Amino acid sequence: MRNFLRGNGGTARPGVSIWRREPVNLPRSPKVDGWPARLLRIVLPLRCLLCGDRGSRARDLCVGCERDLALNTPCCPRCALPLEAPAPLCGECIDRTPPFATAWAPFRYEHPLDLLESRFKFRGDLAAGRVLAALMIERASDERLSRPDAIVPVPLHVSRLRERGYNQVLELAKPIARAFGIPLGAGLLRRSRATVAQSGLDAASRRRNLRDAFFVPEKHPIPAHVALLDDVMTTGTTVRECARVLRRAGVQRVDVWALARAPARRR
Ligand SMILES: [Zn+2]
Ligand SMILES: [Zn+2]
Repeated sequence: MRNFLRGNGGTARPGVSIWRREPVNLPRSPKVDGWPARLLRIVLPLRCLLCGDRGSRARDLCVGCERDLALNTPCCPRCALPLEAPAPLCGECIDRTPPFATAWAPFRYEHPLDLLESRFKFRGDLAAGRVLAALMIERASDERLSRPDAIVPVPLHVSRLRERGYNQVLELAKPIARAFGIPLGAGLLRRSRATVAQSGLDAASRRRNLRDAFFVPEKHPIPAHVALLDDVMTTGTTVRECARVLRRAGVQRVDVWALARAPARRR
């Protein structure tokens, strides 16, 4: 299972196409749910969470609303930033090599995906989270992603966790890890302090805001290759900081997996 790691050394070397994805390592048709879900489906018909129409493909989303979700193509092959035309790298990746090997974000953070995400993140709608995880699982099955040793969700500080009751990224990570049989490394990356929301901050303040916000607990076993999972990647400051901390702790290769990537904006 680890053959795919061979040859890339897990590090970002200038001039080497490390972001070229290796052969498929994820199963094509992962099991998303078991018999209780199938039984419920018979008893309660699935309804689209966005428009109320009949759900399709065993989820609470109709064919029409699924078609409205914007796929993130073309995008920067290294950081998944939405681009207008295909390019080998975006301007930011040319200026600064990201601390992660590659980023994969199958959707653009646009309407109507933003509605599902805000219901999931701010209104405790775990059904919306299940739909988002299923969409990600399906997209991952179609992609040529490298299989990581662990999936590591971006952590939430305990104070925010208390307030919200759950970490939406962990809730996304659980079904994805289960579907592909990849260990969940939820304890690998911790948040040492609460930070103010990143939205509305300029690039320098974002970086300052996250300085020393994450750590890897001492003596925690360090996997060689992790997929760092986030729900929405906006400017990428958070995953960059997390990837730096993981690399410093000894993780050889960090890939970023995010549900969606927001378009570029003025930094
Ligand atoms: Zn619908
Ligand atoms: Zn880029």
